[in-house]
Amino acid sequence: MSDSSAKGLHPRTQAVHHGIRRSQYGEMAEAIFLTQGFVYDSAEQAEARFKGTGPDEFIYARYGNPTSRMFEDRIAALEGTEDAFATASGMAAVNGALFSMCKPGDHIVAARALFGSCLYVLDLLAKFGVEVSYVDGTDLGQWKAALRPGTRAVFFESLSNPTLEVIDIEGVARLAHEVGALVVVDNVFATPVFSRAVELGADVVVYSATKHIDGGGRALAGVICGTRQFVREVAEPYLKHTGGAISPFHSWIMLNGLTTMDLRVRAQADTALKIAQALQGHPALSRVIYPGLADHPQHDLAMRAMGSGGTMIAVEVAGGKDAAFAALNRLEIVRISNNLGDAKSIVTHPATTTHQRLSDEDRAYLGITPGLLRLSVGLEDAQDLIDDLMQALAA
Ligand SMILES: *Cc1c(COP(=O)(O)O)cnc(C)c1O
Repeated sequence: MSDSSAKGLHPRTQAVHHGIRRSQYGEMAEAIFLTQGFVYDSAEQAEARFKGTGPDEFIYARYGNPTSRMFEDRIAALEGTEDAFATASGMAAVNGALFSMCKPGDHIVAARALFGSCLYVLDLLAKFGVEVSYVDGTDLGQWKAALRPGTRAVFFESLSNPTLEVIDIEGVARLAHEVGALVVVDNVFATPVFSRAVELGADVVVYSATKHIDGGGRALAGVICGTRQFVREVAEPYLKHTGGAISPFHSWIMLNGLTTMDLRVRAQADTALKIAQALQGHPALSRVIYPGLADHPQHDLAMRAMGSGGTMIAVEVAGGKDAAFAALNRLEIVRISNNLGDAKSIVTHPATTTHQRLSDEDRAYLGITPGLLRLSVGLEDAQDLIDDLMQALAA
């Protein structure tokens, strides 16, 4: 096993080498152990293994698998946590992290600006007797007012979907830790490349690996990063018995994704800044929201916390839904879809797709207006993307 993080190697080196487990054949590339289970040398060995597995011992793919363990070790090294547990999807990670840590009577404080499925999980927790308070994630005063001694956890997207509010992880963590609450961060939009969540006080970081970690829009996966105690003693028992396990094949896709993630995400963020600058002040747009622009309300915080504005942009088309749809339908390179973090640039109309289920009031509160478009910047040439967006907005 490699110990590249122990040697203090840089993330780009860890992303290529860390966590690799080679079989007796000495294969160069990470092997796919596409097997549900493992053979024991003896009945005694099987008995011993069911009592507890060592780092290179496996029982059943729902519990763990060598390829998945390579992905877990690599992402944990990059995130700076002791351990990680890979899951079938980002939502299995959110659900696993929150359900495994809560019992009836517990209290959670969450930011209101959340992905719809995350809100669904919180509603489900409420159904099972967990009290959930919602706050404006950008307002530390609201977090302080909602927290109380014994609050189990706080939960928020560090960079919110789709309006790109930046949450002050350090500020929220300070308040949460004062009352003994765990800080659980959905860090998908920030990406592991720009994340300093753990350094800033996050206890548990969850990713939808479906997004930037895959980077090619191929497979669903998720991961929970945290202390060894939380990952192995709290999250793992819940996930291994409730069936949120990742496929070894998807772990292999994500391992390969991590190898190139740093290069991809930095290139995407560089292009996102160029696009945001080109769109700023465009007569067809009433707003251009990008944390990398100086006029973003949390620009300084974004630079401090991430050192980048990220790979996502939101714009509001001045003419409302009709004008937004017309622009979408004129795009030739940027595709209409709802994934993000892909090599292909993707545009989404949140009000009628990802956030369709919200009430009109909730959408208005979150700034999801009929003209709002969310752009996930891909790996295409920046000028080609700018030209495509300009021709779509020109008519
Ligand atoms: C996509 C996404 C999820 C869910 O991930 P899946 O892999 O689709 O299950 C959770 N949170 C955020 C912020 C996301 O963008």
